[in-house]
Amino acid sequence: MAQQPDFDWFEVRSFAHDIYGIGEPGHFEDVKSFLVVGDELAMLVDTGMGIADIRAVAESLTDRPILVVNSHGHLDHIGDNWRFDRIWAHPLEVEAISTGVGNERMRRFLTSEAFNRTPPANLDPESFHIPGTTVEQTIDQGDEVDLGGRRFRVIHTPGHTSGGISLFESETGILIAGDAIYEGPLFAHHPGGSVSDYQLALQRLAALVPDLSVVYPSHNRYPLEPAFILAVQEALERIVAGMSPDESENGLHRFNFDRFSFTVRSTWRSEEERSETS
Ligand SMILES: [Zn+2]
Repeated sequence: MAQQPDFDWFEVRSFAHDIYGIGEPGHFEDVKSFLVVGDELAMLVDTGMGIADIRAVAESLTDRPILVVNSHGHLDHIGDNWRFDRIWAHPLEVEAISTGVGNERMRRFLTSEAFNRTPPANLDPESFHIPGTTVEQTIDQGDEVDLGGRRFRVIHTPGHTSGGISLFESETGILIAGDAIYEGPLFAHHPGGSVSDYQLALQRLAALVPDLSVVYPSHNRYPLEPAFILAVQEALERIVAGMSPDESENGLHRFNFDRFSFTVRSTWRSEEERSETS
């Protein structure tokens, strides 16, 4: 028997086609991980902040062996990787995942202001860190994750990070988007991030829209309607076409839209040659 899962911290939502959203709304990142149950395997897309035991929650929802697929290597997506044996990710995220995140960097995400509900009692911000974990298998554009009776196609969606992925199931029209798309602040300025890569990612996702039924993003309100992808794509195209930023500070430009914003480096045009051709 798994130990009593920490449902006080996690907010689990159940969706059609054996998909569960496992959210952490008590932290400002408001990250979601997704459990997808197949006939042979269950896929856990991301492992959250790591400040409570997401494995116990996942194992309370399925008796299938769990395969973790990381959408990318940011700290709010790999926190509980160390509790699992099998982790797949894009090759460009392996370094971040295998390095983990030290306590010094974690602390600013664990101040009292970071929480809007009481964190688990055993969380010690003075020592908390994310251990590095080994990636068992790398996956890239067009690869398939076969769970037995259902398959997800890997869509490489760089821009937020260089090795970000989304996962698409053609039979159901489900897209698990990672950080490629969500309501709220979208970021193309992180290390490994790129505006021209983000354009490519949104082109790939937009091409899927006619075949999508639902989009599960990793942050904020969810699920989202597929057409949201087109609104984000159009916004980024306006930025690339020369739209004036709404805010500029610390070397960053921020562009505000109805349900989201984009933050880019103010120097991105000179840094990214490929954007010249767009
Ligand atoms: Zn991220």
